[in-house]
Amino acid sequence: MYLEKLNPQQRMAVEHGTLIDGNHIAGPLLVIAGAGSGKTNTLAHRVAHLIVKGADPRRILLMTFSRRAAAEMARRVERICRDVLGTNAGVMADALSWSGTFHGIGARLLRDYAQQIGLDPDFTIHDREDSADLMNLIRHDLGFSKTDSRFPAKGTCLAIYSRAVNSETALDLVLRDAFPWCAAWEKQLRELFACYVEAKQSQNVLDYDDLLLYWAQMVGETVIAEDIGSRFDHVLVDEYQDTNRLQASILLALKPEGRGLTVVGDDAQSIYSFRAATVRNILDFPAAFSPAANIVTLDRNYRSTQPILAAANAVIDLASERFTKNLWTERQSAERPRLVTVRDEAEQARYIADKVLDNREEGLKLKQQAVLFRASHHSGPLEVELTRRNIPFVKFGGLKFLDSAHVKDMLAALRFAQNPRDRVAGFRLMQILPGVGPSTAQKALDLMAEDASPLSALAAMPAPPRSGEDWTDFVSMLQEMKSGKAGWPAEIGLARQWYAPHLERLHEDAATRQADLLQLEQIGGGYASRERFLTELTLDPPDATSDQAGVPLLDEDYLILSTIHSAKGQEWTRVFMLNVVDGCIPNDLAVGTTAEIEEERRLLYVAMTRARDGLDLVVPQRFFTYGQNSQGDRHVYASRSRFIPATLLQFFEACSWPQVKSDAAAQAHARQVRIDVGARMRGMWR
Ligand code: ATP
Ligand code: MG
Repeated sequence: MYLEKLNPQQRMAVEHGTLIDGNHIAGPLLVIAGAGSGKTNTLAHRVAHLIVKGADPRRILLMTFSRRAAAEMARRVERICRDVLGTNAGVMADALSWSGTFHGIGARLLRDYAQQIGLDPDFTIHDREDSADLMNLIRHDLGFSKTDSRFPAKGTCLAIYSRAVNSETALDLVLRDAFPWCAAWEKQLRELFACYVEAKQSQNVLDYDDLLLYWAQMVGETVIAEDIGSRFDHVLVDEYQDTNRLQASILLALKPEGRGLTVVGDDAQSIYSFRAATVRNILDFPAAFSPAANIVTLDRNYRSTQPILAAANAVIDLASERFTKNLWTERQSAERPRLVTVRDEAEQARYIADKVLDNREEGLKLKQQAVLFRASHHSGPLEVELTRRNIPFVKFGGLKFLDSAHVKDMLAALRFAQNPRDRVAGFRLMQILPGVGPSTAQKALDLMAEDASPLSALAAMPAPPRSGEDWTDFVSMLQEMKSGKAGWPAEIGLARQWYAPHLERLHEDAATRQADLLQLEQIGGGYASRERFLTELTLDPPDATSDQAGVPLLDEDYLILSTIHSAKGQEWTRVFMLNVVDGCIPNDLAVGTTAEIEEERRLLYVAMTRARDGLDLVVPQRFFTYGQNSQGDRHVYASRSRFIPATLLQFFEACSWPQVKSDAAAQAHARQVRIDVGARMRGMWR
């Protein structure tokens, strides 16, 4: 019986309010507990249990923070349902019909209610880069960057806008608290943001923030809130500590009394404050739903061995503020986590490759091992080493596949066919054509914008002087796609054929890029329609390896490389953490305020608590930076992360690899130059 596998607290959470009968909708429930204590597991069991007790699976809304976590959750619910209900696939599919990320669910609901809220249901979604591009276009149009070269860059503008929107805070306060160096431009920023909002509306595009913002606005209307709220008997949220105020307000609007609402989270794992997530949501939950709110805490960890848990607990114990209690485990082991000193990043890469292969020899699959890092670019040397040794790997959190120009071009074509008012997509595409520059593209887009039927307007335009046939080919490709005759996913092939000669012209490595596009076509085949594909892909790209030397396809065994942020909620038998040095963790860009440093500490805690049996924290004594150093030295000397002070060394087994020569002179040298990691890391971003 599935309930018997749970401990008493987990069971309490799973059965909360369902004992009487299936139609009784329970009061609000908060599960707050540390890493690996079975929160996600409990939530999945609760979903299954509700269904067993007669809840309608189509009326269950299940939301988590990231797409990967959502997929993991769906997998677990399905497994438990299958155990309990037998292989009734229909029930299973229904059970998962409303599960996803906040942004994904928001996009679906907005399409459903588009007519009612004055939104064209064909809207397309801008990812962060598209949004920054649009911000940049407007910044130029308004002339701010011309009159003042110090005017904040597009990314900064977008970050300020996004922070204000997500935290529901006035611009002057956001500037004062988070971007004081931009405060002088408050007036211009206000104008910029007003134009940005207008541009998005006239082009019928929504950015990430809009998905939440429009959703929150939509449910601000009581009628719609009640309508949506009444579609769902149960609303369950995992990783609640990573929600922001908008998300909390959406939940409150849907379930004002918290009936049927279950949220789970861990304040010690709150790592998204840069997206305005606030741990207050979890801490304020009891008050928001008082006196009905029930709170369950879990204190047993099922994931990690005792030495790993002890080390992770010790790290988070030094946090200045913390609410969840320490966990205990029954998983004894003699193996302490290792603190491995290596000379530099190249050696770090060799160490990891060696250990990973050793582990595989001992029977551990590559997939059961993961390498984590604070920032995506930290894994560069390791990626090279793995490629060299033909060790297959997949990288999460780096977007290496979808970030590449040719894939973005292709997606722009699909998006522009879907929504010819999408200016950023159009701007990008037109300039692929020879003889078309920014001003020609702008003019064409202006004409399209004025017309009720933008594609016909485009077709009616004379081709720009130097692009003759290329222009007509482009237009007919779009028309053919828009007509829908080719069908999905065959129309990706249309776009690919159109793009092929340009690819040859623009890139030396056209062949490998073509292979990527074929892969994109395959990925597209897994989605029901163009619209669905674009929505899903823009919201959270599927992970795909680029067709580079010797990287195998995804169904084979492969090592996981992941940023800590993308490793949320996951676990592996053995975990390696790269660059456990000051400057990397805490990241040098984040050592401004105490709050930022505390978030970096929680990141290390999240990384350490991903490990089941083995944990290696690797400390290179030097690491590479992209900084501009006048001496031409691109290496900096580093020291062990401040989050593992000498008092915590007892929790680790310290070793160096390979045996480091005790060269006193080299060490003295190291001491002499060991310094301004900060300035150089920052230089990277200038
Ligand atoms: P995180 O904070 O990292 O998201 P979590 O609290 O969500 O972790 P889970 O991922 O649900 O924890 O569970 C951690 C591990 O413990 C999983 O492998 C899960 O299968 C196992 N586990 C959870 N509860 C039990 C239980 N009652 N008996 C045995 N194993 C359990
Ligand atoms: Mg979890």
